[in-house]
Amino acid sequence: MKVLLTGANGQVGRCTQDVYAGSDHELKALGRDALDISDAAAVAQTVKAFCPDVIINAAAYTAVDKAESEPELAYAINVAGPANLADAAAEVNALLIHISTDYVFDGTAHTPYSEGDETNPQGVYGQTKLDGEREVQRRCNRHIILRTAWVFSEYGNNFVKTMLRLGKERNELGVVADQVGCPTYAGDIATACLAIARRVVDGNECYGTYHYAGDLAVSWHAFACAIFEEANNSGLISAKPAVNAITTADYPTPAARPAYSVMTGEKLANDFGVPACDWRNALRGVLGKLA
Ligand code: NDP
Repeated sequence: MKVLLTGANGQVGRCTQDVYAGSDHELKALGRDALDISDAAAVAQTVKAFCPDVIINAAAYTAVDKAESEPELAYAINVAGPANLADAAAEVNALLIHISTDYVFDGTAHTPYSEGDETNPQGVYGQTKLDGEREVQRRCNRHIILRTAWVFSEYGNNFVKTMLRLGKERNELGVVADQVGCPTYAGDIATACLAIARRVVDGNECYGTYHYAGDLAVSWHAFACAIFEEANNSGLISAKPAVNAITTADYPTPAARPAYSVMTGEKLANDFGVPACDWRNALRGVLGKLA
């Protein structure tokens, strides 16, 4: 299987490279400097030349707050980028696996979101990701849109690394307790993408939008407590800081975030046999790698 990966230096991109390193598939991993997905001509030319069976788009504008003041750039990367990839994938009949987000929802639900539930993004980032999904749906029949959430890994910047830094610097910190979601390890997303790609290439012709995230919903506050618990157990921090529960109103940010963005992964489990991931176990693994 020939796989073209975009955004190869991000969290999901790096983990995808790790996952494919142990497989017999041919992976062409391109970071932003090798392929800017907002450049339509470059995308078309690269895809035509490599002629992949599968394209995994892990490239995105992911700065949720900064997107509020850079909407054009967020649009170019999160909407025009996937549109370019979808056109190029359709041209060579490749499967396009495009990663999207729980932030397409407004968070007013009280039970886990299904794929068909109404979307209503609360900020520029979520809106551009939703518009990107629509471009993919419109332009490329053979697509999988994989919505995920609260991504962490040993790579790049993420909540786990921020908490570890703050845990070393402070004895006490406040973390938002009224936003609930599902932490997800980037390595598990990469493994899920590989499993989906294999199944589709082997003839499981299921396409469309799917949810994939951690199996246990928590608040950022509970996630922080779990991080400190595991980090203390593994010796990464010498003492657990006090973690005070604060509200979203106590911690204003430029972009509004959904209060509840739990997603059910039943459809992916049914169609592809890929269950929701165990983020607590993955967290231990990431902390082990960081130790
Ligand atoms: P990262 O921010 O870690 O990685 C994104 C990568 O995309 C970066 O390496 C970035 O490069 C690259 N990139 C940005 N612009 C372009 C461009 N024009 N062309 C090519 N590459 C570009 O993101 P994650 O790995 O965390 O996210 C992967 C996917 O998961 C994204 O689709 C994101 O929307 C989604 N997601 C992420 C969540 C999270 O919590 N992080 C939550 C839910 C969904 P550079 O560093 O040079 O800018």
